[in-house]
Amino acid sequence: MCGFISIFGPAGSDVIQDVLTGLLAIQHRGQDAAGIVSFNEKFQAKKGLGLVREVFQEKHLSRLSGSMSVGHVRYPTVGQNEVGDVQPFWIDFPLGVAMAHNGNVTNFHELKKDYFAGRNVRLASNCDLEAVLYVFADRLMLRKGDAVTAEDVVAATHETFERVKGAYSVVGIIAGVGMYAFRDPFGIKPCIFGRKQTDAGYQYAVASESVVLDVAGYEIVRDLKAGELLWIGMDRKPQFFQVGNKPHRPCIFEYIYFARPDSFLDGASVYAARLELGTKLGEQWKQTGIEVDVVIPVPESARTAAQTMAEVLGVPYREGFVKNRYVGRTFIMPNDKARQSTIRHKLNPIRVEFEGKRVLILDDSIVRGNTSRQIVKIARQMGAAKVYLASYSPPLVNPCLYGIDMSTKREFVARGRTMAEIATELGADHVIYQTIEDMVAAVQKVGPNRQFCKACFDGNYPTGDITERMLSDIETDRLEATKS
Ligand code: AMP
Repeated sequence: MCGFISIFGPAGSDVIQDVLTGLLAIQHRGQDAAGIVSFNEKFQAKKGLGLVREVFQEKHLSRLSGSMSVGHVRYPTVGQNEVGDVQPFWIDFPLGVAMAHNGNVTNFHELKKDYFAGRNVRLASNCDLEAVLYVFADRLMLRKGDAVTAEDVVAATHETFERVKGAYSVVGIIAGVGMYAFRDPFGIKPCIFGRKQTDAGYQYAVASESVVLDVAGYEIVRDLKAGELLWIGMDRKPQFFQVGNKPHRPCIFEYIYFARPDSFLDGASVYAARLELGTKLGEQWKQTGIEVDVVIPVPESARTAAQTMAEVLGVPYREGFVKNRYVGRTFIMPNDKARQSTIRHKLNPIRVEFEGKRVLILDDSIVRGNTSRQIVKIARQMGAAKVYLASYSPPLVNPCLYGIDMSTKREFVARGRTMAEIATELGADHVIYQTIEDMVAAVQKVGPNRQFCKACFDGNYPTGDITERMLSDIETDRLEATKS
């Protein structure tokens, strides 16, 4: 999972400050690396490993100035993290095309072996965006006239949809010609379009989440639809083309964990969805008849849902853990031992909220169970009378092949276990999870009544091209990567 922003300002404008502001607003979507590519007579780039504020310094800004720019933050992945894989990517010849994406190409290996080998294209990185870029650019080069027209960009997007499988929201610029953005045929990854009035006319932006537009001062126009292309040429008139025609299946995990609560995705507020998820889980907990004294969230994502869960149960919501924001994410540590000790460094308990109490601890999700196991242990050390666990997402049991870094099947603590077995495994007195139906109903309640990609919960991969073989290859790859 990653985040992007692309901006196209009026001639002579400089959009670099807005790109930086936007990237900071989506830092949560990726802390591995960041990059910006701007066009001002030629492409200029700065990419690096680390956080946005570490990669870009004052001295880079004048070089990156220009009226067309693309920025990207990269999500932590298991395994190698090399600067050569950092987005955006671009080509200079025979026409300038820059691109960034959020997602995962599921047929990357086949494309490399069949499509690119046959064309003598050697990809320079391990990043699947390069595959999207070359398919798109290759088709653009086949255009009839010299100038690049909207029809050429539509044809290139169509070609991309035909050849590149998986989930990808893409943004980019064609040097001195215009800005484009498209969302894969199922619209799994988010992508939103906005504009800002300036003295010289509108400045346009496309980003992963609405919070980017809010913070950088853009008015939201709308989300791109599944399979839709947005093209803004030198006439500066946004044009939309429906290129793909599959059912829209946006990722539901964005609402659970990934997106910022102050974002709206496809017309639904992430914050409102989390409140509703908490309400539904509170109702489910009531059915257990188990009494609790307090609801405590695992910070940060679970805080919103814990408030409504506590309301439903008629007990206080309390901050039982203080999070040290400066410790890296536990999820990406190379092995379980490292992960477990980091959780302890990251979350410190407030004893008074646990001592002698029946505590219900809420997290957004339980993946391998490392966080939960540690948290239960800490709660007991703090003198809790009973320790109950709740997850406002259903049991995670299938890997995400569309860009969310998730464990391999074997590592999911919920896979193949009953609720009682999970509770024992995590050391808790009782465990509950949201049901898939309640999760979907909660998000539908606060936005349009649509279906979602929820493959990590139910194993139904909307792109229909995921085979057992792919799943086991990924399993092997990830296990290898964690060893290295
Ligand atoms: P685990 O300790 O493996 O059970 O992971 C659960 C924790 O990881 C939860 O507290 C989540 O907030 C967080 N989490 C869930 N999914 C992801 C993800 N894809 N990347 C990073 N963190 C995640």
